[in-house]
Amino acid sequence: MSDVLLQAENVGIRFGGLQALEGLNLTVRDKELRCIIGPNGAGKSTFLNVLTGTLRPTSGSVRFLGHDIAGLPLHRIARLGIARKFQIPSVFPSLSVEDNLKVARWGVPSPVRPVSELLELVALGDSAARLAGELAHGQKQWLEIGMALAIEPRLLLLDEPTAGMTPQETLATAEMLLRLKGEFSIVAVEHDIRFVRALNCETLVLHQGRRLRSGPFHDIETDEMVRDVYLGR
Ligand code: ADP
Ligand code: MG
Repeated sequence: MSDVLLQAENVGIRFGGLQALEGLNLTVRDKELRCIIGPNGAGKSTFLNVLTGTLRPTSGSVRFLGHDIAGLPLHRIARLGIARKFQIPSVFPSLSVEDNLKVARWGVPSPVRPVSELLELVALGDSAARLAGELAHGQKQWLEIGMALAIEPRLLLLDEPTAGMTPQETLATAEMLLRLKGEFSIVAVEHDIRFVRALNCETLVLHQGRRLRSGPFHDIETDEMVRDVYLGR
């Protein structure tokens, strides 16, 4: 039996005169951790939007467990087991941290993780009663990861989960994901190279909407072309 969860084939998308993505392929297997990196404007968020069905590609296809998910509404996507964290954290500011998690998992048939476990996983064990709106930026990012975990996904997609974080928070976030590795599949889109280095994952490098390189992060990091284009060295 195939353990392929998500399969994007030859994905292209055009916004008016801009070919924002072209010829992208990605296969995510069950319980696999994958990273997508690239400079600003490379098409990372757009690709993630296609992978979660939010944007319909102009060409190519995206399948999750064999279902064509292009353009499916968010609740259908969630029910299939896909959770997503957006680039800008969106929590309910006037609810407590704990209640944010409770709301996020409302409707999950029989959750395996108690809310207390979710709180610990995202390093918010001491902040359960605090209002989400009063959290520091990094903690809001963690809460949103917790909210994505709350639906007990088979596939978690994260768009720049460490945006705006301190170096310490960035490493703590990588450790968080490494603890979850092997439980379900994770696709992390990132700009911060330290984060991807800490995760040491199979990496796809995007540049101008196309695949520049792909492979283990160690090979990517030492690749001349990636250094020129992305690391700017
Ligand atoms: P990244 O996340 O890698 O920074 P994006 O995926 O946000 O890059 O953007 C890739 C390119 O597509 C950019 O040139 C951006 O301006 C363009 N773009 C993204 N979304 C739209 C849209 N809805 N309409 C037109 N252009 C878009
Ligand atoms: Mg982006």
